[in-house]
Amino acid sequence: SFTDMQGNITFDQVQFSYDDDRIALHEISLKIKKGQTVALVGHTGSGKSTIANLISRFYDPTEGAVYVDGYDLRDMRLDSLRTNISVVLQDTFIFSGTIMENIRFGRPDATDDDVKEAARVVGADAFIQRLSSGYETEVEERGNILSAGERQLLSFARALLADPRIIILDEATASIDTETEMQIQKALKRLLSGRTAIMIAHRLSTIREADNIIVLENGKILEQGNHDEL
Ligand code: ATP
Ligand code: MG
Repeated sequence: SFTDMQGNITFDQVQFSYDDDRIALHEISLKIKKGQTVALVGHTGSGKSTIANLISRFYDPTEGAVYVDGYDLRDMRLDSLRTNISVVLQDTFIFSGTIMENIRFGRPDATDDDVKEAARVVGADAFIQRLSSGYETEVEERGNILSAGERQLLSFARALLADPRIIILDEATASIDTETEMQIQKALKRLLSGRTAIMIAHRLSTIREADNIIVLENGKILEQGNHDEL
């Protein structure tokens, strides 16, 4: 059943247009095996976010199909998709509320201890403890008391707690100091372990460690392979 999603993804001759004038993806065929990390790279407008949008079923293909474990995404229940596929966006979505509530988002049944455990695993616990009221600290919608790196770690804790089979991650481009960068790399490793990951990759470290790098150009796959092959 879909509750046992493995996370194998197949694009079969997928074509997609947002509107009539232009084709955003041309006949994309690709396979991502469960547990693999795939880095999507390419210039602005090449189709990276569009691929992510199709996997998260934000849109459906104009032609062709996207399959997960052999099932057409269009035949899957939306609640199953929501529990099994998490999207971590570049501008991490933070709402007004406590840190605890922000991490718990997407997994409402999680206990306080579950939340703290997830934060600990991704290394967010240290900075949270330093906040005035720890996990009960109120943050604003823009998350303005948090640095870009801290927001990333918070979003990783949230994604880890949600425990999806597939993670789509649009890496932040914001400049982050070296120490935080290393912390994020470590956190990413833990977050992605055992899951299928589609990374809209901006960091060289992510690209280097991906099982497969897919280079997009004008909605087509220009080349693919791992860092040594390309
Ligand atoms: P970036 O690096 O800038 O995020 P990208 O590789 O993610 O670029 P996409 O957002 O996938 O690129 O865009 C692919 C094509 O689809 C581009 O030609 C873009 O203009 C177009 N496009 C993207 N989103 C929409 C939309 N909502 N409506 C219409 N066209 C869109
Ligand atoms: Mg994009």
